[in-house]
Amino acid sequence: MILSGLDPSGGAGVQADIQSVTSLGCHPLPVLTCLTVQDTRNVYVAEPIDADLIRRQLECLAGDTPIHAIKTGALGNADVVDVLVEFVRKRPHIPLIVDPVIKAAGGGDLADSDLINAMLTRLFPLAEMITPNGVELELLTGEPDPQKAAAKLQLAGCGDVLATGGHGTGETIINVLYRRDAEPQRWHIERIGGEYHGTGCTLASSIAAGRACGLSQRAAIAQAQNYVHRAILQALKVGEGQPVPDRG
Ligand code: PLP
Repeated sequence: MILSGLDPSGGAGVQADIQSVTSLGCHPLPVLTCLTVQDTRNVYVAEPIDADLIRRQLECLAGDTPIHAIKTGALGNADVVDVLVEFVRKRPHIPLIVDPVIKAAGGGDLADSDLINAMLTRLFPLAEMITPNGVELELLTGEPDPQKAAAKLQLAGCGDVLATGGHGTGETIINVLYRRDAEPQRWHIERIGGEYHGTGCTLASSIAAGRACGLSQRAAIAQAQNYVHRAILQALKVGEGQPVPDRG
């Protein structure tokens, strides 16, 4: 099950999620949380979907279809977070992978302070894993050092934190999984270079797909990283802005 926003440029949001999850052999249940005005350069408007309608969609699906993982991206507003929290609390066995979307790569806002606060205090403690990049970690905690930022989040009850290094500049991307009950785990990945639209969405939804298929957390992350790497190698220049990973 995917809760995310619609990016009409097809680079990020629910289209990225549906393509990733489908490519990895799963059936997505997409629940839209917001509509955006957006191109491959930036997000200009984000309008949340009515939270009560989302509640009804979640309950309707859950009464019909087994759900093996939940992935969230842009959530629209704090009311949507509360609907999701109520849903997930009743289903603690389903792995919840949270991509804490706050801003588009172009700088446009996808979360206000109420939504950020709702994620921090109510959603993150229910997540198996959150997948922030360095920018999101700093926005969430005010802490520029990813390790300290992850520690701060976990002190407040957050699940495991996969701090992604794609926004850095070195030759190698280092992703680090800060686990609540074990030593951190690191992956070193060759950097292709450039900025792409929807890489965060692609990574988090492919991790969720791996978990839905029964992979361990570690195997799901490894598979997702390989998938994102391949999608970026074949990225498509569909507009004037950032190329879009080829998730086909
Ligand atoms: N979700 C939506 C609806 C978006 O519009 C965006 C970005 O523009 C994102 C998520 C985040 O995209 P990314 O994967 O580039 O972090």
